[in-house]
Amino acid sequence: MIIVMQHQATAAQIAAVVARVEAVGYRASLIKGEERTVIGVIGDDRPIDREQFEALDGVEKTVPILKPFKLASREMHPADTLVSLDGIKVGGPRLVVIAGPCSVESRSQILETALAVKEAGATALRGGAFKPRTSPYSFQGLGEEGLQYLAEARDMTGLPIVTEAMSEEQVTLVARYADVIQIGARNMQNYDLLRAAGKADKPVLLKRGMMSTIEELLMSAEYILAGGNSRVMLCERGIRTFERYTRNTTDINAIPVIKQLTHLPVLLDPSHGTGKWEYVIPVARAAIAAGADGLLVEVHPNPVEALSDGAQSLKPEKFAQLVREVRRIAEAVNRTV
Ligand code: PEP
Ligand code: MN
Repeated sequence: MIIVMQHQATAAQIAAVVARVEAVGYRASLIKGEERTVIGVIGDDRPIDREQFEALDGVEKTVPILKPFKLASREMHPADTLVSLDGIKVGGPRLVVIAGPCSVESRSQILETALAVKEAGATALRGGAFKPRTSPYSFQGLGEEGLQYLAEARDMTGLPIVTEAMSEEQVTLVARYADVIQIGARNMQNYDLLRAAGKADKPVLLKRGMMSTIEELLMSAEYILAGGNSRVMLCERGIRTFERYTRNTTDINAIPVIKQLTHLPVLLDPSHGTGKWEYVIPVARAAIAAGADGLLVEVHPNPVEALSDGAQSLKPEKFAQLVREVRRIAEAVNRTV
């Protein structure tokens, strides 16, 4: 439920409503709009007696939130949430372009890629130090050493860094080095990890599970929000279908659907979405045309030698082409890169 305060409600009236919410065992989440303050009432699923709140001074009305996700819903927070990442407000008119290798493989590989993507127009650097791999015999990532190389790449280029944490313990470690904590598709429903990300003091990039519905993605975002971290960005990265010519099927529909259901920014990952580098640019263009707030793109200086996801990685010159093409689409939809 949300409690909509009257236009002229005083700070004391708002405080009294919050106190009442807490006295009956719920949590209050204050959203101060330009016009009025709205108080989100968060708690368990038991029915709330709305009349007791409607009787309080300064309250205009109460509105039930029927969606299972509450803090993530547009009803709770009609305006777009902007997540600050360096100079960019993700979710605003300027698109965020996060680029870099699937995995951090060596110091020289990440530094070289960082310089190249920066030069091409990327606004953040990605690279996995902890890698969720299907096979235990595949390259598992450099771990903390990889995080150190990423931090060095940030110092060198000024690009903020985005990297994955796969477990609760890794959240603390990753948060020490990274500007954004990525939660991968395979971990989208790892609830302990989501709770840990909710306590972290860094923005979170939450990727949609390959077999998850949009509602499940938003329920996972709800865990992070309910934990107290309001800086959540969502990422569509393709879902599993019967189609075999591509690794996954990019769900372009998800972009406008998510934008309608939630106030959180949504990015698209055309690399995992297609699995083949030659389809990455067209799908990136489609994402921006559909209203995505940014892109997550895999770039490798020498994709044939990549230790993970080489087939879907762009060479730096192709990534530069992607940025040029996306810039033109962005203009057509009143955005910038
Ligand atoms: C990645 O971004 O490299 C990654 C592992 O993505 P996903 O979790 O979407 O598979
Ligand atoms: Mn990858």
